[in-house]
Amino acid sequence: MTPTSLLAAPLEDTDTEGTVDLGLRWTPGFSALGPGFYTRLRPTPLGAPPYWVGSSEPAARLLGLPADWRSEDALQAFTGNVLPSGSQPYATVYSGHQFGVWAGQLGDGRAIMLGETDTGWEVQLKGSGPTPYSRMGDGRAVLRSSIREFLCSEAMHALGIPTTRALCVTGSDSPVRREEIETAAVVARLAPSFIRFGHFEHFAANERIDELRQLADYVIDRYYPDCRETSLFGGNAYAAFLQSVSERTAALMAQWQAVGFCHGVMNTDNMSILGLTIDYGPFQFLDGFDPRHICNHSDSAGRYAYNQQPNVAYWNLFCLAQALLPLIGDQQVAVAALESYKTVFPSEFESRMRAKLGLQQPAEGDREFVNDLLRALATEKVDWTIFWRRLSHHVGGEAESTVRDLFIDPAPIEAWLAAYAARRAGQSASAQEAAAGMLRANPKFVLRNHLGQMAIDQARQKDFSGVARLQAVLESPFEEHPGHEDLAGFPPDWASSIEISCSS
Ligand code: AMP
Ligand code: MG
Repeated sequence: MTPTSLLAAPLEDTDTEGTVDLGLRWTPGFSALGPGFYTRLRPTPLGAPPYWVGSSEPAARLLGLPADWRSEDALQAFTGNVLPSGSQPYATVYSGHQFGVWAGQLGDGRAIMLGETDTGWEVQLKGSGPTPYSRMGDGRAVLRSSIREFLCSEAMHALGIPTTRALCVTGSDSPVRREEIETAAVVARLAPSFIRFGHFEHFAANERIDELRQLADYVIDRYYPDCRETSLFGGNAYAAFLQSVSERTAALMAQWQAVGFCHGVMNTDNMSILGLTIDYGPFQFLDGFDPRHICNHSDSAGRYAYNQQPNVAYWNLFCLAQALLPLIGDQQVAVAALESYKTVFPSEFESRMRAKLGLQQPAEGDREFVNDLLRALATEKVDWTIFWRRLSHHVGGEAESTVRDLFIDPAPIEAWLAAYAARRAGQSASAQEAAAGMLRANPKFVLRNHLGQMAIDQARQKDFSGVARLQAVLESPFEEHPGHEDLAGFPPDWASSIEISCSS
């Protein structure tokens, strides 16, 4: 069975068969770029009746959906069984580097774009059936990975980290073959744009320079208009664009590192041109702090280990620079446009760490001071999230022992805490003010692997209350949420044996 044999006929403008009116108004957006950028096709209906697994009201508001939007029509439409009226769906083509190797053409192999609405948000169904870009894949996504993507998209947003969003996840009993037989699910994702570095690499690698320019012009005009006005790089808008993407990516990496987020598959086709976190697969929030932690079971060499992320992002930006070179026109200018990454990442990271530490003003020696702490945490693999939360409460008046007790050998942390007290003494803010700021910088709740896993196990029994409860605390992760302490505790022993790979 070739993927193309599975394609439905291209959608005609007049085709209203099987559509439902959700009140969404569609605009041409990306699709105006023309047929070289995508293939029009409909999602393939799931074989078994769909059911709601979870949905996000904040995401629904982004689309301007009414309070009672979760109708039967919406359920069918966001599963891909019927089309919202006016939608002309398509799958886009891109290429990319996977695990450091050129992979050639990839593309939306299991995501189908319903289009862009007049709110400026693109709506995409992930897991909605095969496309011409599915290669050997079945175009489907399983329940477990869809729940993880749904929860994490909304959790990252609540943490203040740029990300694609998730409107809802629906499931069905339709079987999907992975290592074992699982069931199918669809995530309705939202983003201002789902364009990846790999979209640019695709047209550059195929020497389709006119389309490369068309794509770059579209992205600059829509999302980086300042690049048109710039005097940087002699007014070279493409170089300015590369610099802007590089700086947004640097800022994103600083946020990932500070919250302890491991992406797991930082291939260039999983890098957003808008600097968003995109494509939640084998991601993980650190439990114990291990800089070399590898969250992707398929990544045996640790290319995408936690401490590699900032360097890998820079490597990926080089691929983007290479792709943009025909437009930038000068290799030295392209290299120069990447230069600021080396200063923006450290300065963003240091400012995130200062916020976590409740320090308002930078000071000489801060980098070494932070490194001393990271060494102490790494030596004992101290829980990243709990450490920071306890430190915040300690600054607010709780006993030092709540922090010290996280360590078996207290000497290094005691020395560091003494230096920290001295460092804080020079600050203008009071301890109470500092603690309040720290509690807004250090979340109490993150989507740890074992929490996701427990919600998934429940969902497999058709009980979605665990998904909803997790979602509710993750929607305001800096709040205390009394009664939900079990979601803020240490991971159980079995958490370290959870294996998450690319197969999902
Ligand atoms: P990922 O690294 O998971 O973002 O996926 C890499 C590429 O494989 C993308 O082109 C995906 O669309 C495609 N892909 C992943 N899983 C499937 C699947 N089950 N069916 C079709 N294509 C897939
Ligand atoms: Mg991907």
